[in-house]
Amino acid sequence: MFTLNPGQIRTDFEPGYIEFGALEDYADLIFIKVKNIRLDRLSATPVFHTPQIFSVEHEGRRLSLYWGDLHCHSNISICSRHPSFHCTEVNEKHRFSRDVGGLDFMMLTDHEYMSPFDWYKTKKYAQLSNADGSFASFEGFEWSCTQQKGFHNYGHYNVLYKDSGELLPISDEGCRTTGQLWARLKNNEALTIPHHPGDFDHPLDWERFDPEYAPVVEIYQVRGSYEDELCEMQPQQFGRKQTPGRSVKTGLAMGYRFGFTGGGEHEGVGLTGIYSPELTREAIYEALRKRNVYATTSARITLFFRLGGVLMGGELPVPPGGMETRYEIIAECTGDIEYIALVGPDDTYYIPGYSGERTINATANIFIKPGYLYVRIKQADGNIAWGSPVFIIGLGEGSRY
Ligand SMILES: [Zn+2]
Ligand SMILES: [Zn+2]
Ligand SMILES: [Zn+2]
Repeated sequence: MFTLNPGQIRTDFEPGYIEFGALEDYADLIFIKVKNIRLDRLSATPVFHTPQIFSVEHEGRRLSLYWGDLHCHSNISICSRHPSFHCTEVNEKHRFSRDVGGLDFMMLTDHEYMSPFDWYKTKKYAQLSNADGSFASFEGFEWSCTQQKGFHNYGHYNVLYKDSGELLPISDEGCRTTGQLWARLKNNEALTIPHHPGDFDHPLDWERFDPEYAPVVEIYQVRGSYEDELCEMQPQQFGRKQTPGRSVKTGLAMGYRFGFTGGGEHEGVGLTGIYSPELTREAIYEALRKRNVYATTSARITLFFRLGGVLMGGELPVPPGGMETRYEIIAECTGDIEYIALVGPDDTYYIPGYSGERTINATANIFIKPGYLYVRIKQADGNIAWGSPVFIIGLGEGSRY
């Protein structure tokens, strides 16, 4: 035990940051290792998690909105051992996500080149911190083949096991392509989540993408948004370059159906909201498979979107020429709204009347054609939410979507 006198506590912290430390005791000296943690991914003063859960009736079931991060690294990952990153021990990462971040689910995704002991720790703590009804914690790792020189760039995928599975290192010859990776996952119930698809150094190979194994794609993380090349929060604003033609909208234009997630990555920016009937690994996994998910820049923007009665991520069949149907949007923002838009393959429709508001309850008829439609909300403070698309499936021959 030790006591800090008021004079020993720094009070000149930068606004928006808190200081957080681990203690090390060397004989009679006490060092406090200090890390900066961005406060904008925290919902409130980090004391206790007091969830206020948004829920809604859908197809005779009550779905609740749960928040989590399915892309974060502990100091197992070499690239996380950086003084400006929030990196912690594996066990701390779970406690921090649940008790400080107030998250409902999480997955540590350290790089696949970790040692067998680090994988053992990853699995053990995922099991220990998982508690049905209060916190869902998944076993997983990051498969990032661009880090191996001389290999084809498939992109970076996070592997998420519904229950439990094995580490599949790229150094293993049978695990060097996405096809090989997915074949190895077949015996385990697992899904994979690609991230930063339009990154300059690690772009996603959409030609070798398969939504059966990757039902969701991380649209936003610390590098920025990969919605499309000229989107808001584009990586150039964060000093990163892009590879043209690899964005999320490229994948959608190729006719793939996938939902959107936000991931923390090394610096902890980006969150995923999930609509699920309960908070268990199994239910969260099923919601990811059904793409009933959305991404935010970390602000806890409540966003609920249905088109023709179909929840975000779902599929709505229409005649080839299109049809008129009803959309419903419920949103609770954390700041003033700048705009709310419905985004399709070719057009973006800005819904009038919500600028400066914080709450949205909008329903109206709209004419839809085969393609997709998703909601983007931007707040005046810059925060954004991206709802997963409703996929509008053209009935009959010859429809691109
Ligand atoms: Zn890394
Ligand atoms: Zn990566
Ligand atoms: Zn990563």
